[in-house]
Amino acid sequence: MTEVTAYIGLGSNLDDPLQQLAGAIAGLASLPGTNLIAQSPFYASKPVGPQDQPDFVNGAVALRTQLAPLDLLDQLLAIEQRHGRVRRQHWGPRTLDLDLLLYGLEIIDLPRLQVPHPQLPQRDFVLQPLLDLAPDLCLPDGTALASLRTACPDNQLRRLQPQSRSGAGFPPAGPC
Ligand code: AMP
Repeated sequence: MTEVTAYIGLGSNLDDPLQQLAGAIAGLASLPGTNLIAQSPFYASKPVGPQDQPDFVNGAVALRTQLAPLDLLDQLLAIEQRHGRVRRQHWGPRTLDLDLLLYGLEIIDLPRLQVPHPQLPQRDFVLQPLLDLAPDLCLPDGTALASLRTACPDNQLRRLQPQSRSGAGFPPAGPC
């Protein structure tokens, strides 16, 4: 069975965001055919879009998974639902947002799923946790995430708490 390294972005700004992220990571770790490899530190960030909502807490994890991309997406949506996710407003507050950021070196462009996640290059709260996990990580086209991070708009990212740095130096999804 083929295993792929997938990176998942996590965000929350409602109902105890730190607990939401911790619960989501436990859910990701117990997905079928999947092992949690590493977990980034958490960051607080200003919301994208409407500013009349709490700051977000963001992080990322690396998984080794046998799940196919759409199956993994369905599992992410199911975890969001279990965390009471309701979509009321585009870019509005949310208990839990899970994004499939990278799936090995695959480029996926389906109506339900685009990978790499299209907003990844513009979001410091996505790029920074990914770089904490894998400083040499690259997009499938070879673009280094470190160079995207340098050019990325500033979302007033604040690191919240030191966590296991076991992810630092984790092998990247591919060479660049
Ligand atoms: P949002 O709640 O704004 O994150 O949008 C969720 C929807 O985006 C899902 O229902 C997916 O079908 C779609 N989507 C497309 N690409 C991705 C991706 N890489 N990760 C997560 N959701 C995605």
